[in-house]
Amino acid sequence: MAKIKEYIPLVGQPVIDDLRLLSERLKGKVIQHINSTPVGGGVAEILNRMVPLLRELGVDTKWDVIKGGEQFFAVTKKFHNALHGRAEEIIQRDFEIFMETSQQNIDGVDIYGDIVFIHDPQPVALVKKKASNKWLWRCHIDVSNPNARVWKFLMDFIVHYDSAVFSAPAFSQRLPIRQFLISPSIDPLSDKNKELSQETIDAVLKKYGIKKDKPIITQISRFDRLKDPVGVIEAYLRVKKYTDCQLILAGGAAEDDPEGSKVLEEVKEKAKHDPDIHILLLPQNDIEVNALQRASDVVIQKSIREGFGLTVAEALWKAKPVVASNVGGIPLQIKHKYSGLLCHSIEGTSFAIKQLLSSPAYAKKLGENGREHIKNNFLITRHLREYMLLFLSLYHPEDVVHLC
Ligand code: UDP
Repeated sequence: MAKIKEYIPLVGQPVIDDLRLLSERLKGKVIQHINSTPVGGGVAEILNRMVPLLRELGVDTKWDVIKGGEQFFAVTKKFHNALHGRAEEIIQRDFEIFMETSQQNIDGVDIYGDIVFIHDPQPVALVKKKASNKWLWRCHIDVSNPNARVWKFLMDFIVHYDSAVFSAPAFSQRLPIRQFLISPSIDPLSDKNKELSQETIDAVLKKYGIKKDKPIITQISRFDRLKDPVGVIEAYLRVKKYTDCQLILAGGAAEDDPEGSKVLEEVKEKAKHDPDIHILLLPQNDIEVNALQRASDVVIQKSIREGFGLTVAEALWKAKPVVASNVGGIPLQIKHKYSGLLCHSIEGTSFAIKQLLSSPAYAKKLGENGREHIKNNFLITRHLREYMLLFLSLYHPEDVVHLC
C-alpha cells in the first residue's frame, strides 16, 4: 500500500502539506464508515484506499459493514434500481424486509464514531442510533430522477443526518439538511491503477487466452442490467461487421448484489457463438483488471444508469480512449470529443468504437486528454482533502472552516 509521501511526485508537495494540515485539525475524532459490502463495486473500492490513507495521516478511521440476508439485498437492489429511475415493482413487504434487517443492524452494529459516515441506502436506518455524534449520509447513486415512493421512505431517515453528500451537482436534492457535492476518485498508486510492465500485461492476457492479434474492446463491470452488458455485445457485433476485433466483458460479484448470476447467464447465452468474446469472472484481482484495461484499444462503459462510474476514471487514467454513456457522473469525466466519446445508444456506441479503431491518432489524443482531466480532478488526494474539510465543517455551522 502506497504511503502518502509517494503521491508527491504526482500531485506536488503543497497538496500533501495541505492534507497534513487538515488532518491535524481532526486529531481526537474517530471517523466510522459504514456500508454494506467489503468488496465489489465503487464504494468498497474507494473505502479500501481511503481508510488506510486517512489513518496514515493520523485520522482515526474505522470501517464497518452491516449484515443482511438474500431477501434484504434483493430489496436494496430493487431500491437501488428504483432510485436510479428504473421501473421496479416495490411492494409494502419490501419496506418491511428492509426495516427488519435494519433493526437487526441497529441492535447489532456498535456505533462509536464521533463522525458516523453512512454510505448509500442499505445502512441508512442506523441513524436511529444517533446521539450527540455527527452523522453523514453519502449517496453514491444518481438520484436525479428517483422513484418517489422509495425516496420518500429514505427521506424519513435522511432528515436526521447532519449533512448529505452527493457525487455530482445533478444528483442533489431538496433537503432540509446541509448537502455537499464531492466526486469520487481513483487511487493512482493502487494495484488497480499503478503502472504495469508489458510482461505483466502479457501474462494476464495469456492466462485468459486472449491474443493480441486483433483490437481489444473491454468493459469492466459487475454483471448488472444497468451496466448493459448485453448492449455492449450488440454494439461489438456491429463493429465486428467492419473491423475484426475481440471483446472482453470482465466482472466480479458484489456481496450486496444478488442479480449478478442471472445477468451473467444472459450474457453467456448472447455470447455463446463468438469465440472472440471473453467473459471473465475476476475474483477481486486488481492487477488483472489493471492489465486488461491497459491491454485494451478501446474501453467501454455503456451503462444505462450510473453513479459516478469509477471504471471510466480508471481507463482514462491509463490514457485509454473511452466510449461511455452520457449518464450519471460520466459526463463529469468525459467531455465529448475531448476526453472520450459520449454515446446514447447501441448504434452510437458501435459508431464511436469504429471511429476510434480507425483513427488511432485521434484515439490517442482523447486518451491523453482524459488522463490529464483525471489527474486534475479525480485523484484520491483531492478526495481526501474534501472529506477532511467535510468532517471539519460538521463542527463549523457558520460555513467557514478556519485552519490557522
Ligand atoms: N471492478 C473490479 N472487478 C470487477 C468489476 C468491477 O475490480 O470484476 C471494480 C472496477 O474496477 C471499479 C469498481 O469495481 O473500481 C466499480 O465501480 P463503478 O463506479 O464503475 O461501478 P459500481 O459497481 O459501483 O456501480
